[in-house]
Amino acid sequence: MEEDIFCQIVARKIPADIVFQDDQVTAFRDINPQAPVHIVVVPNRHIPDVSDLTPADAPLLGRLFAVANELARREGIASSGYRLVINHGRDAGQSVAHLHLHLLGGRAMAWPPG
Ligand code: AMP
Repeated sequence: MEEDIFCQIVARKIPADIVFQDDQVTAFRDINPQAPVHIVVVPNRHIPDVSDLTPADAPLLGRLFAVANELARREGIASSGYRLVINHGRDAGQSVAHLHLHLLGGRAMAWPPG
């Protein structure tokens, strides 16, 4: 299995501010936050990006979103609103080849995104 930086965070080989972890999913604060709340939610298993998902991954995807929603509640942004983002590829600005969901909130955000 490839050892990208998020695999190393999941395995606790490098430090991160982990706010949630179970047998499927790990969530940690983004090192370069773009909003007052910016948490990265990742599958523990190495999946390079969203285009690598298969129908068999449906339960895992559901779990990623459920954890993001639960963390939004814990962070106090559930009622003010939040954005869930998956970047795929160069034009979207994906910089880490390990599927991840950004949970962003705590400020008003513009649309369309830049
Ligand atoms: P993306 O640009 O969608 O691939 O998102 C990757 C995100 O991971 C960026 O927002 C980075 O700031 C964040 N990131 C990279 N390395 C770390 C790290 N060691 N700990 C926490 N967040 C990180």
